[in-house]
Amino acid sequence: MRKVKRLPKPDSLRNNSEMWTKELLAEIDRVGSYTKVDDSFKNKYRQKDVQSALEKMYRKHCCYCESIVGISTYGRIEHLKPKSLPDFYKYTFEWENMHWCCEICNTSYKKAKWNFQHPILDPSKEQIDIFLKLNLVTGEYEAIEGDKRAETTIKHTGMNRETLTKARRRIIIHFMKDYQVYCKCGAKKEFCEQWEMLKEDFDYPSLYDALLNFVR
Ligand SMILES: [Zn+2]
Repeated sequence: MRKVKRLPKPDSLRNNSEMWTKELLAEIDRVGSYTKVDDSFKNKYRQKDVQSALEKMYRKHCCYCESIVGISTYGRIEHLKPKSLPDFYKYTFEWENMHWCCEICNTSYKKAKWNFQHPILDPSKEQIDIFLKLNLVTGEYEAIEGDKRAETTIKHTGMNRETLTKARRRIIIHFMKDYQVYCKCGAKKEFCEQWEMLKEDFDYPSLYDALLNFVR
């Protein structure tokens, strides 16, 4: 997970989110429960301009695991505050609550989890690297100084699941081997510049940031 800069609100939300929210809340009242409300009231945020803005904002990476979305998994518009919780119905069409997420993180891990006491970190609001750090031996994220919100984030997003830690460890090993080869040739600077340029085209760009910080 890493900090991103939120882009301006897409037109579809700017023009409609207030009306859609009113309609959704009225429908929940009318039918008596959120689960009975027809999906057509809940899913109006699924707009092309919303998806494009989120993809651009996250440079096609998942907001949680940082895999590139759309190659081996579909992308999903993620509501950080789960839209199915009564406290958050009103944030269903709220741009600031929307993020870009891979299908695996969205449907198998984060789901509708929320911790009111220690909320999950928001990559568009918080400076993530003061809460979370990557362990370059284990490939796991760790909560800095035992921060409770960082611990919630790790737990709720499954960011230390075995498939991810294994993939990170593989990258660490290959990166360090390549680094040593470049160093022997006196090309450390070129190696770092190359990865600085390439990292956005790969899964887990913040892992490359951590590796680059380590070797510099
Ligand atoms: Zn993911």
